[in-house]
Amino acid sequence: MLWPKFPTSGGGQTSLGVSRRKDMGHFCRICSRTRPNERFSGKGHRTHVCKDCARMPRDKREALEQEEELFTYMKQSQMSEKNIGRLTTVAASENPRIAELAGIVLEVTKLNPYMKRRLKALARERRDLLEALDRTGRILAHHW
Ligand SMILES: [Zn+2]
Repeated sequence: MLWPKFPTSGGGQTSLGVSRRKDMGHFCRICSRTRPNERFSGKGHRTHVCKDCARMPRDKREALEQEEELFTYMKQSQMSEKNIGRLTTVAASENPRIAELAGIVLEVTKLNPYMKRRLKALARERRDLLEALDRTGRILAHHW
């Protein structure tokens, strides 16, 4: 398959993926960083939320969590009716970025029920979103 415009995970261009393998810290699911263990409380270790993110205002953290949720949907090989219902709810979010992301994921999902085609459609139509996915260091690292 051809992906001329985007590096694969093997290309070594996603710095996040590289540093994550090297560090011995703990991954924060909110800020998507691997941070030293002292940046996590005991509870934070269990919930995968670093101390900085634990202090974040609730709405900001919720937005990040919803963003994470959207990425999770993008990673699924197929979208269920339930997922689509949830996406529709998230697309009505008061947070404009989340609403936009959810709207795009929803749109692309309706057009392309299978993940690989979703990513391909994104590469073609919404490069900005694909780049946002790439910045998380997860989607591409796991699937490309
Ligand atoms: Zn964090």
